[in-house]
Amino acid sequence: MTDIPLDSTSPLEPGSTIGIIGGGQLGRMTAIAARQMGYRVAVLDPDPDSPCAQVADHVVEAAYDDRDAARELARISDVITYEFENVDPDAAEAAGEITRLWPSGSVLRTTQNRVLEKEALKRAGLPTADYVKIESLDDYLAGLESLTGPWVLKTATSGYDGKGQVVVNEADDGAAFRELEGKSPAMVLERFVRFKLEMSAICARDADGHTLTFPVSENDHVDGILDTSIVPARIEPHVAEKASELAISVAEALDVRGVIAVEMFLTQDDEILINELAPRPHNSGHYTIEGCNTSQFQQLVRVLCRLPMGSVEMSKPTVMVNLLGDVWEAADGKPDWADALSVPGTNLHLYGKAEARKGRKMGHITTVGDTVDVALHRAQLSRQKAKG
Ligand code: AMP
Repeated sequence: MTDIPLDSTSPLEPGSTIGIIGGGQLGRMTAIAARQMGYRVAVLDPDPDSPCAQVADHVVEAAYDDRDAARELARISDVITYEFENVDPDAAEAAGEITRLWPSGSVLRTTQNRVLEKEALKRAGLPTADYVKIESLDDYLAGLESLTGPWVLKTATSGYDGKGQVVVNEADDGAAFRELEGKSPAMVLERFVRFKLEMSAICARDADGHTLTFPVSENDHVDGILDTSIVPARIEPHVAEKASELAISVAEALDVRGVIAVEMFLTQDDEILINELAPRPHNSGHYTIEGCNTSQFQQLVRVLCRLPMGSVEMSKPTVMVNLLGDVWEAADGKPDWADALSVPGTNLHLYGKAEARKGRKMGHITTVGDTVDVALHRAQLSRQKAKG
């Protein structure tokens, strides 16, 4: 690393090192964007062959809660970020005492706990589904009384991709509570939202407080995991504008330096409710690589390096479909990429994961088209062809 004071406002010179805590596909795509711009990348992950490690200049092989390792990463980096929420905030903050940590440890603490996250949104006057905090069976039973059902019970921590949550259709005597008990110090009971659609907006915010929001993505989940992102979302322009404004409000309320993804429900009455926040690039923003002038990954790199943010303009409708391990299963372990890529406008991204397990995010396909319908059709066809 170069000897840069923590409060320096100068841009980082190419050749400087970006440290990433977490070696998954989000780190990998951030690293690729960083290297494209001449930066070096160091990654901390327990797996020496993680998706990000495969493209990084330096790997610190350690657990996410290893403070000494986080400090080691900080010593070789000029700025540090994290690519998933289940990083230990104490370790991240230990690194942040040595090198700039963006977004901050407090953003990480808030967004890795659904209770803290919802409380922060509430304090900022931002809309969420009605919820109550649950710490005991009595809280749970009282919650069923005070909120109109059906409900969703979620663990406060360690939940992602629909894990750690149970839909409760009818008031029970504690079955759902017992199913999740012990998995997290607290839970959240919230109203089940009968949404028209799910959408997300990714807002980038720099150290001077400038914000730019990528076009709103319409997201289709299957079994709690993102399946398809359609951009532009098929919503009224005023709804898209409101969603984008909400994402900016979130970034400002949490004082984010970096990017934050804001996942939302659009209700049957066109009300927008914020469901979840992720202070990092997001699966629903993968479309920005081919769809926008600047990708979410490059935007993060620009913010981290104190460079001006890039335009988020889109030229054509873009659709992303995830490639889960299920595709490999359907193709007897050998997806037909040649056939998948024979579909016009398709781009293949594979994350370099050796083992294709059911539900595991292995890659994605992004397709551009003259219309949303064409892009959607092509993306789905391409994935179908991959299955053989
Ligand atoms: P989450 O882990 O909170 O992002 O939830 C994963 C998925 O579960 C969401 O994308 C929704 O499809 C669904 N879900 C979560 N919370 C609710 C809710 N309150 N009402 C309806 N569906 C929900």
